[in-house]
Amino acid sequence: MKINKICILGGGTAGWMTAAGLARKFENTDMEITLVESEQIGTVGVGEATLPHIRFFNNTLGIDEAEFMRATKATFKLGIEFCDWGRVGDRYIHPFGDYGQAINHVPFYHYWNKSRLYRNTSRLDDYSYPIIAAEMGRFRFPDKDHTKIESTFGYAYQFDSSLYARFLRSYGEDKGVTRIEGKVTDIQTDPENGHITSLRTESGCVINAELFIDCSGFRGLLIEQTLKSGYEDWSKWLPCNRAIAIPTASAGKLMPFTRATARKAGWQWRIPLQHRTGNGIVYWNEYISDDEARHVLTTHLDGEPLADPNQLYFLTGKRNLFWNKNVVAIGLSAGFLEPLESTSIYLIQEGITALLELFPDNQFRASDASEYNAKMDLYFERVRDFLLLHYVATERDDSPMWNYFRNMKLPLSLEEKIKAWQTRGHIIEYEFGAFLPPSWVAVMVGQRLLPLRYDRRVDLLSQDELTAQLEAMRLEVLSAATDTTGHAAFLQSFGAAIPMDGKG
Ligand SMILES: Cc1cc2nc3c(=O)[nH]c(=O)nc-3n(C[C@H](O)[C@H](O)[C@H](O)COP(=O)(O)OP(=O)(O)OC[C@H]3O[C@@H](n4cnc5c(N)ncnc54)[C@H](O)[C@@H]3O)c2cc1C
Repeated sequence: MKINKICILGGGTAGWMTAAGLARKFENTDMEITLVESEQIGTVGVGEATLPHIRFFNNTLGIDEAEFMRATKATFKLGIEFCDWGRVGDRYIHPFGDYGQAINHVPFYHYWNKSRLYRNTSRLDDYSYPIIAAEMGRFRFPDKDHTKIESTFGYAYQFDSSLYARFLRSYGEDKGVTRIEGKVTDIQTDPENGHITSLRTESGCVINAELFIDCSGFRGLLIEQTLKSGYEDWSKWLPCNRAIAIPTASAGKLMPFTRATARKAGWQWRIPLQHRTGNGIVYWNEYISDDEARHVLTTHLDGEPLADPNQLYFLTGKRNLFWNKNVVAIGLSAGFLEPLESTSIYLIQEGITALLELFPDNQFRASDASEYNAKMDLYFERVRDFLLLHYVATERDDSPMWNYFRNMKLPLSLEEKIKAWQTRGHIIEYEFGAFLPPSWVAVMVGQRLLPLRYDRRVDLLSQDELTAQLEAMRLEVLSAATDTTGHAAFLQSFGAAIPMDGKG
């Protein structure tokens, strides 16, 4: 009953991450893994910013971090800076980490929330080590001593996605993955149960397998075009449906964060890599034409363009079934939200992890597929809610797009989350999902959604004790960040070999 042959269709980030994950899992077994991809079709060519979870993926593969960073021209990422979201002129950082440190087992932000109601005017950001270090353009690895403020964060990477796919390709091929170059034009199915049995390329190469992973990108060649699994359209919540990407020469200090700047009909990203900067605009074509969007993008670049703009089209949402019969969709074929919080590669990773947990035998039990689908549904829904929060927690009324969001009926899950926060500063927690309470706090506070009351557990400290503890924390964060090495210098010492000129 054991499965011995897996075929992965697609060699973008999703395809090669899946190939690497499976190759690692089935190392030294008789599993045959084949990946077929078409250079003629190519990959989507974007996807440079990540979440900290990717470190665990790389660790599981046994990848050397310095080697990976050199190969992918990666920089470190402490969070995302959001500009102009709550109001034009506002800015805040969503950090990969915490605010201060818990006091009496109560998260620190509750203390700040009470002090704010009693006229403390310090920003919540002033108590977060990763935010202050990011603002100063500094970086270090988290301290292993959990009593230290320098232990209160995680980090991710910003990298060249095509180099990451190439890196994982050589990893996968070293572990026995067979790569076939060719465009798949014919797909055979079993007339009895509808399972896919083989793929055929234009040149006549036939690939038989028992399990197929669809990493064919937006087209979903197996999961949708063949198995008609259906797509849940989420564009009423996340209506931005186009993007234009353009790389530019590096400019200014090399900052350890991605920037997302809100625009009238979308938002613009800036991702600093070692050798260049990735830029792009995501927009809703209802309210801005492609030409206007290109104009907005190109007038807000801080370096020389290095290539022509790359136009992309998408529809936000997710597959009704991620796992259908003997096909599992991972990557853009599974669904796409939008890149505001760098969640796509994270969702790829969750897809691979869930597949490895529920890895089938050739009986393909419906219960495994149901469990997988239910899990992925949750991951997608939670990311959707978090993304939507950025659009609805706003006072902006300067364009039809912002008015649309301010008047929107929210998914119940998000409505409840916002209500719990607004009434008493509580973040509803859940088991599955990328974003922990400090992330929700970052966006809500950063976008002026503030609680009316505070959590009464903080009353254990007197008013004077509260003031003293907050000030001590602010100074500790400032001092630790000031003592931290510059990001570019840290990268150099880590063997990235980037030219230092002007990078700080
Ligand atoms: C505007 C934008 C910005 C993004 N930014 C981020 C980000 O910052 N962070 C992040 O995590 N994610 C981001 N993403 C998402 C990220 O780019 C994707 O999740 C990631 O690249 C995975 O794509 P993929 O491998 O699923 O698809 P693709 O890159 O499209 O790869 C599809 C593969 O399938 C192959 N293929 C297709 N059809 C056939 C066929 N018939 N025969 C043979 N081969 C075939 C192609 O050749 C290719 O190899 C962004 C996406 C967009 C649209």
